[in-house]
Amino acid sequence: MNLLERQQKEFRELKSPQEARDIIKTIKVKPSIRKLALEQANNQILAEDIYSCIDVPAFDRSIKDGFAVRAEDTYKATEIEPVSLINIGSIEAGFVPDVSIGIGETIEIATGAPIPEGTDAVVMVEHTTREDTKILVRRPVHINENIMRTGADIMKGERVLRKNTRIGPREIGVLASIGIAKVPVKELTIGIISTGNELVQPGNELYAGKIYDANSYAIAASVEECGAKPLIYGIVKDEECAMSEVIDRALKECNIVLTSGSTSAGVGDVMYKIIDQKGKTLLHGISIKPGKPVVIGIVGDVPLIGLPGNPTSALSIFNEFVAPLIYDSLEITPPFKTKICAVMGTGIRSEGRKELFPVGLVRERVYPADKTSGAITTLAEADGIIEISEETEYIEAGKIVEVTLFGNVSPVDLMFVGGQCPGIDLLEDLTGMHFRVINMGSSRGLSAMASGIADVAGINLAGTCDYNLESIRKIGIINAVLVKGYQREQGLIVRQDSNIKNLEDLAGKKLVNRNRGSGTRALLDKLLDELASMKGMTKADLVKMIPGYNSGLKTHRSVCEAVKSGKADVGFGIRPFAETMGLKFIPLAIEDFDFLINKDIMDIPQIKNLLYVLMSKDFSAKLPSGLFTSQRTGEIIHNVF
Ligand code: AMP
Ligand code: MG
Repeated sequence: MNLLERQQKEFRELKSPQEARDIIKTIKVKPSIRKLALEQANNQILAEDIYSCIDVPAFDRSIKDGFAVRAEDTYKATEIEPVSLINIGSIEAGFVPDVSIGIGETIEIATGAPIPEGTDAVVMVEHTTREDTKILVRRPVHINENIMRTGADIMKGERVLRKNTRIGPREIGVLASIGIAKVPVKELTIGIISTGNELVQPGNELYAGKIYDANSYAIAASVEECGAKPLIYGIVKDEECAMSEVIDRALKECNIVLTSGSTSAGVGDVMYKIIDQKGKTLLHGISIKPGKPVVIGIVGDVPLIGLPGNPTSALSIFNEFVAPLIYDSLEITPPFKTKICAVMGTGIRSEGRKELFPVGLVRERVYPADKTSGAITTLAEADGIIEISEETEYIEAGKIVEVTLFGNVSPVDLMFVGGQCPGIDLLEDLTGMHFRVINMGSSRGLSAMASGIADVAGINLAGTCDYNLESIRKIGIINAVLVKGYQREQGLIVRQDSNIKNLEDLAGKKLVNRNRGSGTRALLDKLLDELASMKGMTKADLVKMIPGYNSGLKTHRSVCEAVKSGKADVGFGIRPFAETMGLKFIPLAIEDFDFLINKDIMDIPQIKNLLYVLMSKDFSAKLPSGLFTSQRTGEIIHNVF
């Protein structure tokens, strides 16, 4: 089949998500049953009903420290006129007493010890007084008082746990207390294979052009969350033979086999062909984005599913289509919410076709996490996906949508978009909250604030007469508050032996610049502008003399790394990483790093916590060198409209 035929075949066979779900429902996978040691049974699915073979407790036992008595002997006891009984000894927990108690007698008894013959109640030690061998009982007890009767907890023959229960600490406690050491659990083994010549296993060196295999691990963790057992087969090269061989092995050893990569129509993408040859293809392609390239087949009775290579797509497809198959096969429901309803925090434009759209969730608000497909950062920022229908061209802010979650995601307290700064990491540590920090530069922070995506934007934008305020006014942001942050020293970053002393020495030197839109880059531009006019030339001409001016790394740390490794001669940025990496820092300016906060949320506890920490002595003391707070830190310096 040539490429065109392949593409046509693919196009013809696209199924809608509902058709795909219906196809998956027809697949039946039967897990095997395995006896697991009790200590390994946590989080497993119980394969059988469990009945107790014993009574718990197996004997009548005291539930208090005190004295075993005949209740009748105590009926007349009062505080003023206690009843006197003769103490004939004591019983410890774990020993069966070889005594019988007569009228007017008692015996000391510990909590958990068996109740001796002839007694039917226990008087708490607090209600007695000891006088040599006599015990004065100051309160009456009724029959069975302070006694746990045989089988009161669990009765012999009782069903204590139901089949298909997910075993947790409570269930393990129950199983142990009825003496079960081996537990029958369901075992559904899911083979996981990653394909691609570009993949390297984490822990190994990343050669040029390679990327680390994210899918094996992300999918294995998802499989485990579903209650199944992942079996990672590792990375297979884009060679049909090699793939076929590993898939055969996995088909023999597993209940379901998942591959990732090699499902699109690119050169070397052969998964569809392999599945076709080995068994029956049930579906090739789902009419959604991302993740259209997915192949579902069945070989014998083992489903063989080819997930897309892109990690976000692979996880989306896993959660939407594979997780339900695993839950169905194990006959369980998910242990956490897999879908929630949440409010759109911002509008999303759709392409008028069915899409699975990756989204982030911040305080139950939904925002798009579709930066560029193919970037793992999208995966780190996405909490789940929403399904957008063909008819929808725009989902407006405020609309309630259903989000399919990427497993058991932990909630995010605040969303930061804007300038990158170690001060934000410190705020996250000291507030104890969970931030989602998207470092896209100050300008993008302003647009994220304008479009309602950001809760907080950290910004450092030099204006002609002031910092930050000018830019906010220019963009026309409404409904936000500018809070004073801290100051940062900005300067040139060079190796110790460099002969660069100031901006004028940059000509002919290889610069590593920050990304466009970052305040740090804008500040360098401003300084270069001033230098150019001093020299009577244009800035454009000046930067032509600085190779690397057009580069754009996203973080201060990566700039330092480029200088340290010799890839560049000079960088521009803040002091802390330069110092920790042993580089020379040449200070050129002090700037204001402030926080623009969405006005609507000024009163929520998360923002109060943030501002409290921002103003704290602890924060000030722990800021890295080159960053310092002022009297005004934490103060609202401008209410924008
Ligand atoms: P493919 O479907 O093989 O063309 O892969 C699509 C994209 O996902 C490519 O950019 C791959 O490099 C990437 N990719 C494939 N497999 C993995 C993996 N296991 N981990 C991370 N990225 C992957
Ligand atoms: Mg590939």
